[in-house]
Amino acid sequence: MEVILMPFHGQGHMNTMLQFAKRLIWKGAGNIRVTLATTLSTTQKMINSDNENLRFITTKSIYDDTDDAKLNFKARFDRFQSQASVELGRLISTRSSSSAGKCLLVYDANLSWALDVAKQQGVPGAAFFTQACAYVASFYSMFLEEYADNHDHPVIAAANANANASPPLCVIVPSPEELERGLPSLLSFSSTATDTKPLHPIIRMMLSHMSNLHLADLVLFNSFDNLEDEVVKWMANLWPVRTIGPTLPSAYLDKRVEHDVDYGFNLFKSNNDTCLNWLNAKQVASIVYVSFGSAAALSVEQTGEIAEALKHIPSSFLWIVRETEHSKLPDNFINETSDKGLVVSWCPQLDVLAHEAVGCFVTHCGWNSTIEALSFGVPMLAMPQFMDQMIDAHFVDQIWGVGVKPKANEKGLVSREEITHCLEEIMHGQRAEKIKENAGKWKALAKEAVGEGGSSDKHIDEIIDLLASL
Ligand code: UDP
Repeated sequence: MEVILMPFHGQGHMNTMLQFAKRLIWKGAGNIRVTLATTLSTTQKMINSDNENLRFITTKSIYDDTDDAKLNFKARFDRFQSQASVELGRLISTRSSSSAGKCLLVYDANLSWALDVAKQQGVPGAAFFTQACAYVASFYSMFLEEYADNHDHPVIAAANANANASPPLCVIVPSPEELERGLPSLLSFSSTATDTKPLHPIIRMMLSHMSNLHLADLVLFNSFDNLEDEVVKWMANLWPVRTIGPTLPSAYLDKRVEHDVDYGFNLFKSNNDTCLNWLNAKQVASIVYVSFGSAAALSVEQTGEIAEALKHIPSSFLWIVRETEHSKLPDNFINETSDKGLVVSWCPQLDVLAHEAVGCFVTHCGWNSTIEALSFGVPMLAMPQFMDQMIDAHFVDQIWGVGVKPKANEKGLVSREEITHCLEEIMHGQRAEKIKENAGKWKALAKEAVGEGGSSDKHIDEIIDLLASL
């Protein structure tokens, strides 16, 4: 049984899809072969990885991204699509002509053109979202507006036939301004002057990725049914949705997959020993862990507000400040706080969140960070920066009750006072007990979902049945 896996080559996207592949291989008990189709620089990182569990995955470069840094956003995506689609087609045809039967293409839903390639080659395609179901659902009404004239489109036709088809109320729809705040201003890729309602190009792109989803044989999410119950049920009316998460390494959840102890892929060099030795010396639930992931770039002002809050709270803190962000720290901050704080450029986040010393996670609510914190039962201070992080933060605060989303001022800035107040609320205030209780509940449900007979476990079995039938 053959699977071609085509992730987008960002940290969070790679982590999630590689984990999915490892689990498929484990469940397939030697009968499933996975080929990772990705960029040249990613294949080089994979070759350097000595991760025991990744050795079952064959890596194939379908795009040379060596010069990509010189290109703007649109040129990069266009070149990727035009070159990678040809190579992907070739790869599918060689794999499908093998004796193992047809292959299944599992592609990152941000690369929706890959489905067209699969269909041209006559093989099934599974879209894979590395974001929450609620995020995709939040685009529904925008999608209906954008494609309103396309009456033949099944999603538009279904919406026209049933005016009450909207997503459940828990799915908030952030304004385009909220979604965009913090995104790069992609001038060379912007809407035309004649647009009556110009949308940010990244939002447009997201909508376009939804336009061929109805042709996908499966629509997979790194989530689990209990976590997004209402949304999953609603979405199942539109697409063949299956949740298969959380895709954390098995060692942190069900412990069934041998050697599956880490993601095995790091875009940045991690300061493992420094962080873990430092945490080992701290009291249970006493530390604030702060990280804004691999891509978000805070303003100098916001960095300063966080720094001031961390300087004055009673708790110690571990703050991840990537090298490109370092110059935004206030002068002398690291020296002034060295008795209570540790600032490093990257850490082994899973081990940090799993550590008993961590009492709160100040996070941008990237989907991986969010579902990791849920899986470890760590309360969150939700400081979203853009796009899906807005929805995730809403769920953290209002729906799952596992954290607090501080109020931002009209400029989008969260003040030092607000951060301090929310940290106190999460760690010691009136809501602390309830937040801990909820965090414990979701932690148990996450484990149950991937454990034997859990919802995600069953969905992976279904995918294996589909593979066996090809
Ligand atoms: N991560 C890590 N070390 C760090 C910060 C982040 O290993 O110091 C990992 C984290 O565990 C997660 C991923 O990087 O799996 C970040 O993904 P997320 O979706 O949270 O945010 P993004 O980087 O895509 O904005």
